[in-house]
Amino acid sequence: MMMTRRDVIVAGACAAGDLFLGGCGETAADKMVYREIGRTGLKASVIGFGAEWMERHTAEECAAIVRRCEHYGINLVDCWMADPAVRSKIGDAIAPNRKRWIVQGHFGSVWKDGKYEKSRDPALCRASFEDLLKRFHTDYVDLGMIYYVDSVDEFNEIVKGPFMDLVREFKAAGKIRHVGLSTHNPLVGQAAVKSGLVEMIMFSVNPAYDVLPPIEDLMSYYAKDDKFESALGGIAPERAELYRLCEANGVGITVMKAYAGGRLFDANRSPFKTALTPVQCLHYALTRPAVASVLPGYDTVAHVDDAVRYLDATSAERDYATVLAKAPRHAWDGECTYCGHCAPCQVGIDIAMVNKLYDLAVAQPTVPDSVREHYLSLKHKAGACTGCKRCEARCPFHVPIAAKMKKAAALFGA
Ligand code: SF4
Ligand code: SF4
Repeated sequence: MMMTRRDVIVAGACAAGDLFLGGCGETAADKMVYREIGRTGLKASVIGFGAEWMERHTAEECAAIVRRCEHYGINLVDCWMADPAVRSKIGDAIAPNRKRWIVQGHFGSVWKDGKYEKSRDPALCRASFEDLLKRFHTDYVDLGMIYYVDSVDEFNEIVKGPFMDLVREFKAAGKIRHVGLSTHNPLVGQAAVKSGLVEMIMFSVNPAYDVLPPIEDLMSYYAKDDKFESALGGIAPERAELYRLCEANGVGITVMKAYAGGRLFDANRSPFKTALTPVQCLHYALTRPAVASVLPGYDTVAHVDDAVRYLDATSAERDYATVLAKAPRHAWDGECTYCGHCAPCQVGIDIAMVNKLYDLAVAQPTVPDSVREHYLSLKHKAGACTGCKRCEARCPFHVPIAAKMKKAAALFGA
């Protein structure tokens, strides 16, 4: 896999695969790539495990999927579900290797009268979170998530009240190591980042959602094809701003709904009228700023194999640019999507990365130190650009790359 600066291979005695596979040397887990989740210090596998589909599987099937994840070095699991049965299945399966897993658990998903409910009732949320700890055979979760907030008003309400007191109490007690929030609404994500209350967010990221305006009920909006089609027009500024804010503030993103429920795999249902592959969807999410890990769901061990194939995919297989360029009225024209389709540069510049850092830098009054430092660590800087423009012929979005390299060189002084 082509590495970026944020990517790290977890090193150490026999590497991550040792514990899972029982031996040193080349293992499937050695291929896994890890990224830090913002400033939490946690290193998550770029391919994670969204475990909600375990609800429809037996304990044995769940354990087989967990073992397969471990085989590949997958170490991030999300469990938002409140159903005690599914929690037990997942908890039992990861227990032998608990310390190798980053567990993302949620405050606000509760089990009441035999049914799942979203709740902000502190007593219910407390009981539900304690139940999660018990069923996971652990006394802490790594990421304690404020569950599913899609309204800015609701966010403002809950952070002032007893719900947030509960989250703070669990953090102070060491029962959660880091506070996060899950949302589909970029305005909520922005509010959460600006509040300073969260260290990471779980956000729905795919090229189809990225063109949608910020709305509180994304799921029902998305179900209406006519509205969806009329929304197409490039990455919504609110989403771009959320990515920028996260990157600038060291708030990491873990990704849900990277496949848009499978709709993007179907040319007839995709707004782009061309099917994307899982590899392309994963690459899209992993090339957004601040994203650490994508959490697909798996029904079978073969689904895990399919997701991990991303690590071996070629640049051509990852390339999503030609698909996005088919959007009916793509306002990406002239805007870099960081797809990498323009590579290779004649002098080795990572054009997508330079553009990403440039865009992050100019969106703020002064260049943040973190962005400057990242840029200066690049092996080939924009100042090396010869202006040959060979890359521009390969950019489906007609980005004036040579001119942009000049601007980046001037901005960063290299
Ligand atoms: S310049 Fe064009 S091809 Fe290159 S990364 Fe940006 S959008 Fe993709
Ligand atoms: S124009 Fe600059 S960035 Fe593009 S291929 Fe030539 S040297 Fe590389």
